[in-house]
Amino acid sequence: MKNTRKYIASLITIILTSVVLLFTQTTYLDAQCCRSGGHSGHGGGGSSHEHNKAKDDIKSELIREGEIDLKAIDVNEDGKVFQDQMHWNVISDSKGDCPICNMELKEVTLKMAKDNLIKNGFEVKQDI
Ligand SMILES: [Zn+2]
Repeated sequence: MKNTRKYIASLITIILTSVVLLFTQTTYLDAQCCRSGGHSGHGGGGSSHEHNKAKDDIKSELIREGEIDLKAIDVNEDGKVFQDQMHWNVISDSKGDCPICNMELKEVTLKMAKDNLIKNGFEVKQDI
């Protein structure tokens, strides 16, 4: 009986030590990572430890607000833009993913994009 208790006690000590060690290590790595400027190691999606703040800012430019000017979005003037099929106000002039749901943007004509927006209650500049 005494031996079992001793065994459990040492087991708990080992577990506690590992947890503390793990925690210390993670904190240390995080701190290291935040200090260094380049975040090349964070390319993989799905990680909860994201540092792509600047990238997110650029991406969120795709989320259009207020009266949407599709002609202004179509910078290369090919009459087509890329629009998210779930978030209609996410529109880009080039291929990409929706910053909200990560779905691939679908290539549509300006007219289609405009119709989609109006159908879904968005304001669109009426000059197409
Ligand atoms: Zn979306």
